[in-house]
Amino acid sequence: MSDQAAQEVRDGFLFLGGRLWLDFLNSAPATMGELIARPDDLARWAKAAGIDRAGRPAFAKEDVAAAHALRGALGGIYRALSEGAAAPVRAIAEVNRHLAVAPRLRRVESAKGSLQVSESIDSDLFGRVASDFADFIAGFEPHRLRKCGGEECSLVFYDTARNATRRWCSMAACGNRHKVARYRARG
Ligand SMILES: [Zn+2]
Repeated sequence: MSDQAAQEVRDGFLFLGGRLWLDFLNSAPATMGELIARPDDLARWAKAAGIDRAGRPAFAKEDVAAAHALRGALGGIYRALSEGAAAPVRAIAEVNRHLAVAPRLRRVESAKGSLQVSESIDSDLFGRVASDFADFIAGFEPHRLRKCGGEECSLVFYDTARNATRRWCSMAACGNRHKVARYRARG
């Protein structure tokens, strides 16, 4: 497995969306099924995503339902964004519900003679995902928000490459499958 592929799969979860909220959306791939089925899955996803949950209560069954609700809302908004349609009002309300309990903490700090602002979000997984989505909305370019070109693949990503020509969720997965299929078709 290449270094890049190793980064894309962490503890069985996919991190190739280029954004936290897209990685969260990719936690139920068409080809793999539901990856967040139990509270423990949610805890593992948070850890794999690098979310520090020290001092937070363990996830419960209700949190899995909440995760699916937030993911469903983000999925609805994703579809609307990629079709240039209006996002569902209920989905927006769902995201806002999590944003409301995700205060953003800023601190001015002096470092090496200049002032800097550091920022953190005092929130658990859902608030972090919702905050990432809010940050994303503030500056995203619609043509970079994309679905993998793999036929059976449902994974989505934000193409951050300068020329925005990324076609696959991952070169190691769908990109290679495509290359192999093309090679076979030629033979
Ligand atoms: Zn794919």
